[in-house]
Amino acid sequence: MSGTVSTDDLVSWIRAFRDAVHGHKDELTRLDSEIGDADHGSNMARGLDAVVARLEPAPASAPELFKTVGMTLVSSVGGASGPLYGTLFLRMGPALAGDAGVDAAALGAALRAGVEGVVARGKAELGDKTMIDALSPAIDAWDAAVSSGSDAAAAAGAAAEAAARGRDATKPLVARKGRASYLGERSAGHLDPGATSSTLLLEALRDILAAAA
Ligand code: ADP
Ligand code: MG
Repeated sequence: MSGTVSTDDLVSWIRAFRDAVHGHKDELTRLDSEIGDADHGSNMARGLDAVVARLEPAPASAPELFKTVGMTLVSSVGGASGPLYGTLFLRMGPALAGDAGVDAAALGAALRAGVEGVVARGKAELGDKTMIDALSPAIDAWDAAVSSGSDAAAAAGAAAEAAARGRDATKPLVARKGRASYLGERSAGHLDPGATSSTLLLEALRDILAAAA
């Protein structure tokens, strides 16, 4: 990899996320059956199928790609996760310049803009047992990696690791946002479904950038 992430790499990321969600669809649904309404796997799989159907022909730029992804998720996924994942991508696009290559710092800044959008929309804080518990440590790890000279592939590796740790840390937590919060103390002892799918998102990026390197 030449230090930049191409639009093709980013399209591959979205396809890989779709494949990962399909591969983990039953697990995501089982997690959501424990503390929600058992639709997170099917919600995300349906939404990402709709997204992938709109990637042919491939978008010409990263901002165009993320706009398509975000708008499609907002319009095709019900529940909390559609608008929240939609917002993540809708905020990423404008944070990137429309030119050919995106470097590690730019992609990190776009991810941060996306996660900040999710926080603004869902009002979740770290420790509320949501996707933010995976996403927020991931973007911090990304920035730390870039500050110490990592390229995008290495930054994505660090971010995926931090996301997985954040996901695992949701298990003992009591949910304070979303449907799971209706369960109160009974939400403890289960992984958060959204933190689990968000970890798949970062792991997909790690895998695609490692393959492109
Ligand atoms: P729903 O809860 O509407 O059925 P999903 O099951 O698709 O939607 O998604 C549930 C996930 O959404 C949760 O596991 C959690 O990670 C995330 N979530 C719910 N509410 C919020 C929120 N306010 N902020 C951030 N994430 C949230
Ligand atoms: Mg649900």
